[in-house]
Amino acid sequence: MLNDELATWLAAATGDDPVRVAAELELGERRREFVFNELVDAGYAGGDLLDYLVRLTGMSAHDARALVADHARRLGDAAEDASPRDARLADNEIAFREVNEVVAHGGPGLPLPTEVELICECSDRDCRRVLTMPFAEYEWLRQNPWRFVVLPGHDAPAIERVVELHPAYAIVEKHAGSRSQVESADPRR
Ligand SMILES: [Zn+2]
Repeated sequence: MLNDELATWLAAATGDDPVRVAAELELGERRREFVFNELVDAGYAGGDLLDYLVRLTGMSAHDARALVADHARRLGDAAEDASPRDARLADNEIAFREVNEVVAHGGPGLPLPTEVELICECSDRDCRRVLTMPFAEYEWLRQNPWRFVVLPGHDAPAIERVVELHPAYAIVEKHAGSRSQVESADPRR
């Protein structure tokens, strides 16, 4: 069932506001992706990965298998386009983007902030530095799946170029080789 249909059905069944239900479903989907990425990052694979996905997110085994298959396909696509090293660098940025999507949106029903504190989305997996940017700029940034926000100087010229430089942050855009990888992992698609 599509999310919209599911939201309408759930809202009717529970007497809740359909918009709120839809927002919560969307958050649930992002959370699943986030948990999944964390598990993969921690080195889980195969049956263990499926098992933890089901237990931590409450998703069905069928959906968990679909998510894992989708990820494998994505990795295959990425390997075709970019070198393994570039793909790994971009993977780190994808992981931080997932985290920031959760951080920026707090939760359904919360007022939208004017500024958001984000984790630097650079390719260094050990970088946990925080940057601040206007929420509206963040929303604008996320319209483009090829773009990420990093601290000034944290760009990786091998896989991206700086398209906007602000005192507190820089917007980078992926080179052609990494675009399909970051695009297929876009949490807003
Ligand atoms: Zn960084």
